[in-house]
Amino acid sequence: MRVIIIGGGLAGLTAAYDLTRSGYETMVLEKDSVPGGMLASYNINGYSIEKYYHHLFESDGELRALIDELGLGDRLAWLRATTGYYTRGKVFSLDTPIQILKFPDLTFRDTLRLARFVMQSKRIEDPMPFDEVTARKWILESANHSIFDNFFVPLLKSKFGENMDRVSAAWLLSRINLRSNRGARGEKLGYICGGFENLINAVQRVVTDRGGVIRCNARVDRVTIEGGEVIGVEIEGSFIPSDAVISTIPPAMVLPKHGGVSKTSQHGSGTSIRYQGSVCLLIGLEERLMKDTYWLNIKPDAHFGAVIEHTNLLPPKNYGGDHLVYLTTYIHDASASLMTAREEEVAELYINTLGKLFPAFNKDRVLWWKLARDMCTAPIYETGYRKKILPYKAPIKNLYLAGIFSHPNYPERSMNGSIKAGLACARELVREVDERRTL
Ligand SMILES: Cc1cc2nc3c(=O)[nH]c(=O)nc-3n(C[C@H](O)[C@H](O)[C@H](O)COP(=O)(O)OP(=O)(O)OC[C@H]3O[C@@H](n4cnc5c(N)ncnc54)[C@H](O)[C@@H]3O)c2cc1C
Repeated sequence: MRVIIIGGGLAGLTAAYDLTRSGYETMVLEKDSVPGGMLASYNINGYSIEKYYHHLFESDGELRALIDELGLGDRLAWLRATTGYYTRGKVFSLDTPIQILKFPDLTFRDTLRLARFVMQSKRIEDPMPFDEVTARKWILESANHSIFDNFFVPLLKSKFGENMDRVSAAWLLSRINLRSNRGARGEKLGYICGGFENLINAVQRVVTDRGGVIRCNARVDRVTIEGGEVIGVEIEGSFIPSDAVISTIPPAMVLPKHGGVSKTSQHGSGTSIRYQGSVCLLIGLEERLMKDTYWLNIKPDAHFGAVIEHTNLLPPKNYGGDHLVYLTTYIHDASASLMTAREEEVAELYINTLGKLFPAFNKDRVLWWKLARDMCTAPIYETGYRKKILPYKAPIKNLYLAGIFSHPNYPERSMNGSIKAGLACARELVREVDERRTL
């Protein structure tokens, strides 16, 4: 039985990891030159650093189990992560109750109200019933206008742009749950020392040791369907036969054109999940940018919504002394100039903007920069999203779907969610094949 997996990100690699363990002939086809997808890394000055900032949470059970299974447990560090808010020309740390009370954009009463709102939100164990309620409505009803305008609007805007008013309260509640588990000195986040590339490499090694194939620079152009069932895929005009295909790329790229899946199929609106993109500039600096803040949300309209100083999580000594800073924004329109402009133009714009926000920042201290851009980096978690989630088994025989659009990635996509989806999808395929064999 041969299974082809489209996409060598975490979902595809972990599906291959599981299938090769069950003895399936498995081939992963990845369009890029290396596997990893959104978790791919740059190799710079002898170290490895993710193209997009990554960390894990204590609650990421499947990811932690995989890290242990691959023998990487001793590289996993739990590090204190500090957060802040940039407003009124300054960085305000928001890690301790005192710092939060001092935050100038909220009155004392609003701060207490915000604390109550967070506690109330955290008590909600199942956010799913809030899938049809907008985050805006939930905040306005449970907190107030001032908290919404002064605290949440900049966060929602930087994450969802013009779609912010459509985002569901289910997303917000799960986000609050994830990010508010902080002790008196802030939150602890997990990171694999040496980079998440170690995780990708380790999964890749196990898959190939078990006889699986991971082919890079292999963009799948077409899923071939004959007589209502998938019989293989096409790459640059050549056909590769297979008994089943697992696709981990956005379903709209696989389903409507090739599979003829109607929008009114039994799987609900199916391919109507909308995505947003990311533009993320990583800069290497000779000196630190911020005193000790890891994650900084930017309140004023800038070209990026967050500044993430990675080396305030894992110190610069791990990177030959370089200080690493991500400047990042979400994008909602493929024709936006940040997506279409030349890389040099985006880098210049971002670096100049950083200079305006931080007058002490000296752009001559920028050692290097790298830009990552992609239009499908996260679903837009609008109200009603739950009904759009596709099951692992597509409505075409022998076709399976797993990725950031799958159930474990709602209400927030994550490495853990894609690992869970990849493993669950592979197990569903194995179960169905076993069932067919026994018929
Ligand atoms: C800016 C950013 C920050 C993030 N931060 C975190 C974080 O801190 N913590 C966390 O847990 N998660 C984080 N994530 C999310 C996490 O990276 C993803 O959820 C996870 O890596 C997705 O894995 P995937 O396999 O589902 O999708 P992808 O990684 O997108 O994999 C899909 C793969 O398919 C390939 N592909 C596409 N089309 C084709 C084709 N036609 N043929 C062949 N191959 C194709 C792509 O190149 C890609 O490699 C972040 C993501 C981004 C963008």
